Amino acid sequence: MKMLLGLALVLATLMSCQSRYEEALPPLEALKAGNQRFMSGHPVHPHETLKRLRDLKKGQDPHTVVVSCSDSRVPPELIFDQGLGDIFSVRTAGNVIGDYELGSIEYAVEHLGCKLVVVLGHEECGALKAYLGHRDGEISSDHIMSIVAYIENEEEEQALEMTDNMSLDSAVQANMKHGVKLLQSSEPILRHLAEKGEVKIVGALYNLDNGEITFMH
Ligand SMILES: [Zn+2]
Repeated sequence: MKMLLGLALVLATLMSCQSRYEEALPPLEALKAGNQRFMSGHPVHPHETLKRLRDLKKGQDPHTVVVSCSDSRVPPELIFDQGLGDIFSVRTAGNVIGDYELGSIEYAVEHLGCKLVVVLGHEECGALKAYLGHRDGEISSDHIMSIVAYIENEEEEQALEMTDNMSLDSAVQANMKHGVKLLQSSEPILRHLAEKGEVKIVGALYNLDNGEITFMH
């Protein structure tokens, strides 16, 4: 019994060290470290307690905005091993970004003080598959078609069509790059903050084989 209690104490101390270490890291490093833990099969699931939630009731202070796909394989908190109050999450199929999403990101940056925005694309994205396959008449709804039309209008996707390099992976990457460029040039808030270096906007790609997230910068 004593030994078990001792072990529990050591584990609790280790976890609290982990948590303090995590909080001391800059946002990008915290995400990279969290993804390493997820990939290695040893996530610590930080900040998941009711106490954490009650502490946050007074106000949230997330370190990062993650713009990702709604896909059930891409939950940012799990794949970056983060917890309550850590990530301000904006999710749409194909991580497409319109006015509602831009407003959400601007709110997180301006009012919650997020210093990092990550646009996260992923392998096997259904929205990009729909875009590649829609000429075969596979899309039954105007709402889904509006996502495909958004992707189709991206300069990056059009450039791919010109070079005939239209694989799913290259389409995913082009869509992610489009999101980064769109945010970096977005008026009236994000462009200025990015140029002043007050907010960093980066793209990343998520590998479904090993869970690795590769940042592009
Ligand atoms: Zn997707």
